[in-house]
Amino acid sequence: MDLHIIGGGPAGLAAGYFAKQKNLTFQILEGSSDLGGNCKTISFGEFMYDTGAHRFHDKNKDVTAIIKTLMGDELLKVNSPSKIFWEKRLVNFPLEFSNILKTLDKTTIINIVLENIINIFSFNKNNKNFKELSYKKYGKTLAELFLINYTEKLWGLDAENLNNKIAGDRLKGLDLYSILKTLFIKNNIDQKHLDGSFYYPKNGFGSIFNSLGDYVGKESISLNSNVVEIHHKNNLIKNLILDNNEDSQIKNLISTLPLNLLIKYLRPAAPKDILNISNNLKYRGLRLAIISLDLKSFSNNASIYYPQSNIPFTRIYEPKNRSIKMAPNDKTCIVVEVPCQPQDLIYNSSDDEFLDKIKYNLLKYTHIVESDIINSTSQKVPFAYPILDYEIEDKLNKLFNYLSVFTNLNLLGRSAEFKYLHTHNLFIHANQLIKNI
Ligand SMILES: Cc1cc2nc3c(=O)[nH]c(=O)nc-3n(C[C@H](O)[C@H](O)[C@H](O)COP(=O)(O)OP(=O)(O)OC[C@H]3O[C@@H](n4cnc5c(N)ncnc54)[C@H](O)[C@@H]3O)c2cc1C
Repeated sequence: MDLHIIGGGPAGLAAGYFAKQKNLTFQILEGSSDLGGNCKTISFGEFMYDTGAHRFHDKNKDVTAIIKTLMGDELLKVNSPSKIFWEKRLVNFPLEFSNILKTLDKTTIINIVLENIINIFSFNKNNKNFKELSYKKYGKTLAELFLINYTEKLWGLDAENLNNKIAGDRLKGLDLYSILKTLFIKNNIDQKHLDGSFYYPKNGFGSIFNSLGDYVGKESISLNSNVVEIHHKNNLIKNLILDNNEDSQIKNLISTLPLNLLIKYLRPAAPKDILNISNNLKYRGLRLAIISLDLKSFSNNASIYYPQSNIPFTRIYEPKNRSIKMAPNDKTCIVVEVPCQPQDLIYNSSDDEFLDKIKYNLLKYTHIVESDIINSTSQKVPFAYPILDYEIEDKLNKLFNYLSVFTNLNLLGRSAEFKYLHTHNLFIHANQLIKNI
């Protein structure tokens, strides 16, 4: 066997896709009974939902071409912009100054403009954490209004302790130039920041990975194959041990395991200092509340974001606004995302307790009334986001340096590379890795 791949999530399946194209002999070892990892589509009565607000980003033409060929007519081009819930109104996402201008008072606007002008002339380039970066980039007032609260809720850390790499492009339209343009040039609404156009399969995002599984072929996939030990000798990975004691000899290995688990499973064990760093890596989990509604529609939006710290969720999405096949014509379903740690009360509370808390907040902060709710269920999503604290580069350098001695080991995937990656990134990286095998 040329290659073993640990994990049958998006990363493992992307590796399988290119391995098949290259006619390698390979086996994907998936610990659970299903493919798709954190990108599954699940049935709930007459409804379907994804394990998170997923869509396919058209960011790389080669990867988009692969997904289009794989999915054929199943792939839809969807136009459904997202919004932010703020001061009981919905404003455009990503934020645009022209749009929020209507809600801000004059003093706040003057403060925002002044802070941004001062920032231009400030010589302090030392933005060592996310709070400093966002103050420097957008000014304190804007950063505190829309960015810091949402970010702290999503990642579960104070903004001072978060790495500035998590900034992304959420506030792209809020630099000083766009703010002044909005204030002084009439009708300036820069539509290119509206993030509402994307690809989505008719039967849910998870169907991409079911189709990839079909392409890769049953003979190359072992479900319920949970790797528990990874044996190495002379800088080579030699064998994998499964929880049923099965033993596989390894020529080349791609691991999509969360980085901390990969290091934990190594035999002989990694040195103490490496284990210490690795055991302290943290991943943010999600708990989802799936609520079916006796309403034709909840909103027109792909997603609605909730930055306020007193609301327990960060985002609500409505599967039907991605594909009409996700719900019956006269009803809809929403998925409420609650970021939390596996040790948090909200992650471990009973389904009923969790769902009651979410319903209470939905009745308080949305237009839903109790009689609209048909049914509800809950779903846990572990390893949703690697938590990038502001010292993470140093820690990762040490771990990757240590692992680089194993010449037949490659890491691929969001949790394995400890990076905020999406499907198209995983395909690009999988292609590079397979070329070198
Ligand atoms: C809320 C949310 C929204 C997102 N939205 C998007 C989006 O819109 N577009 C997009 O492209 N991406 C999106 N993503 C990112 C996407 O979900 C991830 O990039 C993707 O799931 C990472 O795939 P992976 O294969 O690296 O890891 P995973 O999906 O975590 O898969 C890892 C696999 O390894 C298996 N495994 C674990 N341990 C073992 C073991 N010991 N032995 C064998 N197998 C094991 C697991 O069962 C799992 O199947 C989103 C993620 C979240 C959480």
